[in-house]
Amino acid sequence: MKKELINKLCCPFDKDELDLQIFAEDLSGDIREGILICPTCKRYYPIIHGIPIMSPDEYREKELELPVVNRWKNQLKTNKVENFRVIEK
Ligand SMILES: [Zn+2]
Repeated sequence: MKKELINKLCCPFDKDELDLQIFAEDLSGDIREGILICPTCKRYYPIIHGIPIMSPDEYREKELELPVVNRWKNQLKTNKVENFRVIEK
């Protein structure tokens, strides 16, 4: 997904602006993998294969998201995630 588009996304729950961390880009500079974090409710939204996953909690698939989140854990600004939210250090 294009960076300009990602930057326009806001949290579906509180409409706050999301913090973006990019983990992988493709050759044209589009985001392939990354994570968006809401500073207000602390929900995280992974970007997988270029698609931001922003479904309501009850429709999110842990099995799909966790491998990606775990793979990039060392680079995350937080070291713990729980219930689709980041836990501050
Ligand atoms: Zn939020």
